[in-house]
Amino acid sequence: MTRRRISILGATGSIGQNTIDLIRRDSKAFDVVALTGASNISQLACDAIDLQAEVAVTAHQDLLPDLKSALAGSDVEAGAGQTAIVEAATRSADWVMSAIVGAAGLAPGLAALEAGTTLALANKESLVCAGGLLLETARKNDACILPVDSEHSAVFQSLVGEDIESVERIIITASGGAFRDWPIEKLAQATPEQAASHPNWSMGQRITIDSASMFNKALELIETKEFFGVSSDQIEAVVHPESLIHAFVGFRDGALMAHVGPHDMRHAIGFALNWPKRKQLPVERLDLAAIGQLNFRVPDEKRWPALRLARDVMDRGGLSGAVFNAAKECALDGFIDGRIGFPKMAEVVEEVLNSINPSHIDAKMTLDNVEQADHVARHAARALIEKRAG
Ligand code: NDP
Ligand code: MG
Repeated sequence: MTRRRISILGATGSIGQNTIDLIRRDSKAFDVVALTGASNISQLACDAIDLQAEVAVTAHQDLLPDLKSALAGSDVEAGAGQTAIVEAATRSADWVMSAIVGAAGLAPGLAALEAGTTLALANKESLVCAGGLLLETARKNDACILPVDSEHSAVFQSLVGEDIESVERIIITASGGAFRDWPIEKLAQATPEQAASHPNWSMGQRITIDSASMFNKALELIETKEFFGVSSDQIEAVVHPESLIHAFVGFRDGALMAHVGPHDMRHAIGFALNWPKRKQLPVERLDLAAIGQLNFRVPDEKRWPALRLARDVMDRGGLSGAVFNAAKECALDGFIDGRIGFPKMAEVVEEVLNSINPSHIDAKMTLDNVEQADHVARHAARALIEKRAG
């Protein structure tokens, strides 16, 4: 069996560590090329040495001396900064996991696709900010993008052997996050600690808070449109508190295919890692009789205005996804830092979307223009947050 060369961008995070767990369990199948992280130098160095990676890179230039000293005595090269991450993403590999959090994942993901590498995409922000560019880059370089987000992996799996033309609708599920059953009036008092406690999934802090606000689901609606090329009126979100069905695909003959599995990201990661084969994975096998029942309800857009904003972004198109994501990232920072309350996040994002000069949204989708739209939106969002906090 030939060993596959793989790299993990965002190796120190929740998705990165789950990917490493799967690789360790099947270590004869893989050679690790590059691992990247940001602040968690000890984890990055420890995994890079243990997995005999060629190179370990931190996003932070000032942490290079710490990384070098943590790698001392090993053969692992050290690198630092965003350019070094992009360089690591283009090192010869068969498969790259894109699991950096936020818009920072876009440039390295694009670079991996330009090198013709298969990209396992957890970083949904890339598709939201620049879906057209990402898909076009993959097409031009004969590279493949495999979805890792559990809902999109579920849709992808439901579509194997099917014709996208026969799809009538795609329904992605949402747990509802930490505040699903809170009275709406109480949301203004919600703390970041409360928002970061997810009823079902164990994930990074930012995506967990985004689950409570449904900004995560909003990003995923846009991700669905971009990845599968369906129109916005074919996409729905439904609240499913058990998080066991990840998505449904409805076909024009009325059939509804559901993907059912435990809430363990190693399922979707393992599917992408082994694709097009399926290998044994260390995930729970569901006992349907013990589960008993599954519930579904319509998401309330008063509680979760992010869903309404996602529809607006899908209708506007262009670079509005980059503006939406950047404003959302800043609003999330503002909430985590205690400068704005939980419901204010959606208000900030809506105000940025409505106030941004349309020339940024209508600009051609290039990496430079996406970064420019991101920059302008962050500036506008930070100014609004200052005003509200002051
Ligand atoms: P985490 O916060 O757990 O990890 C983020 C990773 O990105 C870490 O390796 C972190 O390094 C690194 N990082 C942070 N900032 C930067 C930066 N500016 N430049 C380069 N690297 C950076 O996030 P998750 O693993 O939860 O999520 C990763 C991506 O996967 C996100 O896009 C998320 O939406 C998506 N996703 C996650 C799921 C989950 O279950 N967690 C499910 C579906 C999608 P360090 O920790 O060293 O600072
Ligand atoms: Mg998801």
